[in-house]
Amino acid sequence: MSIQAHVNQVKEHIAAAALAAGRSPEEITLCAATKVQSDDAIREAIAAGVPVCGENRVQELTAHLSADAYRGAQVHFIGHLQTNKVKQVVGRVALIHSVDSEHLLRAIDGQAAKLGITQDILLEVNIAGEASKGGCTPEQARELAALSQALEHVRLCGLMAIPPISQAPGANRPFFAKMRQLFVDIKEKMGDNQSDMICLSMGMSEDYPDAIAEGATLVRVGTAIFGPRPPLHRA
Ligand SMILES: *Cc1c(COP(=O)(O)O)cnc(C)c1O
Repeated sequence: MSIQAHVNQVKEHIAAAALAAGRSPEEITLCAATKVQSDDAIREAIAAGVPVCGENRVQELTAHLSADAYRGAQVHFIGHLQTNKVKQVVGRVALIHSVDSEHLLRAIDGQAAKLGITQDILLEVNIAGEASKGGCTPEQARELAALSQALEHVRLCGLMAIPPISQAPGANRPFFAKMRQLFVDIKEKMGDNQSDMICLSMGMSEDYPDAIAEGATLVRVGTAIFGPRPPLHRA
């Protein structure tokens, strides 16, 4: 099947999951997870109607930006971000999904200040408490949310999570439900900035319908659009 056909199929599944949950399909943004994909595959996905590309690695982001491969779509950074690489990301992407420490949050704010911009960010929460994964605890997310309000050059727009690889349909729903609750809790404490909290980024190829059922506003889909990646790049 072509990328176009895959994108159509994913969009149909998104719409069906939204309607089943009593939500409007327009509430959910499809983000194509483009790691290891070529410039041309990315262009094909955008031509097929993908509005957002999510990149994991700074090196790939830089290469695709130089090739103008994302033309017509927004670009988000969804991978682990090292503090020493914030310069290559801040101001170049519309949203950074993976902020999970005070150190990184302050580095992003500092770089955005230098550029004279406000960088939109999400906090990544390790919602299943997996030792092998990035992301902060729910408690740290509350603290980082409070800190972000004190910083002038970052705008907190929501939360992101990568739960365990889904073993069965429905297996990750409790994690998605927890994320939704945390999102609501943090939003309520944001005072005047509540209206900035618009993004709950969760759900991948194996489980995005469940994430939508639990309130996701953005799903990050790779395999279901581009086909399987080489095993090395699974994570
Ligand atoms: C690779 C990746 C995805 C998409 O994974 P698939 O299972 O291929 O849909 C989503 N989010 C992040 C952060 C990723 O690295």
